Amino acid sequence: MRGEGISLTRNLFFSTQVGGVDRLTTTEATCRYRTIGTSGEPFSVFLDCAVHGSFSLNVFDQHHRAGVKEAKIVAVASLLQDRYKDFAHYNRKNPFEELLFILCSVQTQESNYRRTFRALQRRFPRMNLLAGATAGEIAEPLRSGGLYRHKSRRIKQTCVRLIGAFGRATLAPLRALTDKDCETFLTSLPGVGLKVARCVMLYSFDRAVFPVDTHCWRICQRLGWVRAVSKNGKCTRADMERLQQAIPPRWRFSLHVNLISLGRDLCTANNPKCKTCPLAQLCRRGRRQSDSEENQPVRTNRNRRQAAPNRSSCI
Ligand code: SF4
Repeated sequence: MRGEGISLTRNLFFSTQVGGVDRLTTTEATCRYRTIGTSGEPFSVFLDCAVHGSFSLNVFDQHHRAGVKEAKIVAVASLLQDRYKDFAHYNRKNPFEELLFILCSVQTQESNYRRTFRALQRRFPRMNLLAGATAGEIAEPLRSGGLYRHKSRRIKQTCVRLIGAFGRATLAPLRALTDKDCETFLTSLPGVGLKVARCVMLYSFDRAVFPVDTHCWRICQRLGWVRAVSKNGKCTRADMERLQQAIPPRWRFSLHVNLISLGRDLCTANNPKCKTCPLAQLCRRGRRQSDSEENQPVRTNRNRRQAAPNRSSCI
């Protein structure tokens, strides 16, 4: 069934203002749609709805190229939300705790840093106890997590800096600041870069920012949303800004946490499992992989024999 005459909730992810969806009347909240698949160019989304059944929408990009890009991003975010349910990866609502949690996680496996963070909390149940401790005392509960000397020094330096700024080890006063000022203060703390600052802002201050961690960076490149410009292929500040600008504020939290889930589950650094990935048709790498599999010549005994001389001539 095609999309003509089908109503579409404005709060889904297509609207005439954004994607230029053709011939669709809109009604509010009469139906709940579920994305069940997508195709590449021209961009289509296949939806399922209890009232209208399954149907497809085409998004036209003649005059709305930016809108179509946004629609693709939102389609990815929506598919991931369906699958991973915005799981927040044990991040904290208290901003100072969140910063400690992230400092504990540096180059450490998740199970390990969660354990050392719990040990840190047991040893220093109140923040003023932590602020009064030496780096050596802070290092004790971190021992099993690796890099414990480095982490304890960072935590101590952070406490000293916060006491100097606010009289105690807290980040609560940042709530009153604008996003820009909040980010500037956080990145001025020892060892806090833009990614960590935005994580604290996203998880603890509910700011609409998009931290780009290793999973987000890898997957955004594979999706074809961004290309590394630095020689070492790492995410630069400009890349982070570009990605954040491209992602609608309403989807930044969801996309960030669900890309981490996807990166741990299917889109791993080595051997991504594109065949079972819900984004396969929206992903540049996923589409390339399925195209190359479809175009593989059928390997019969005859063409295997014909191919043999070529292989040996290469050696
Ligand atoms: S299709 Fe493959 S490369 Fe693309 S996001 Fe999924 S697992 Fe990663």
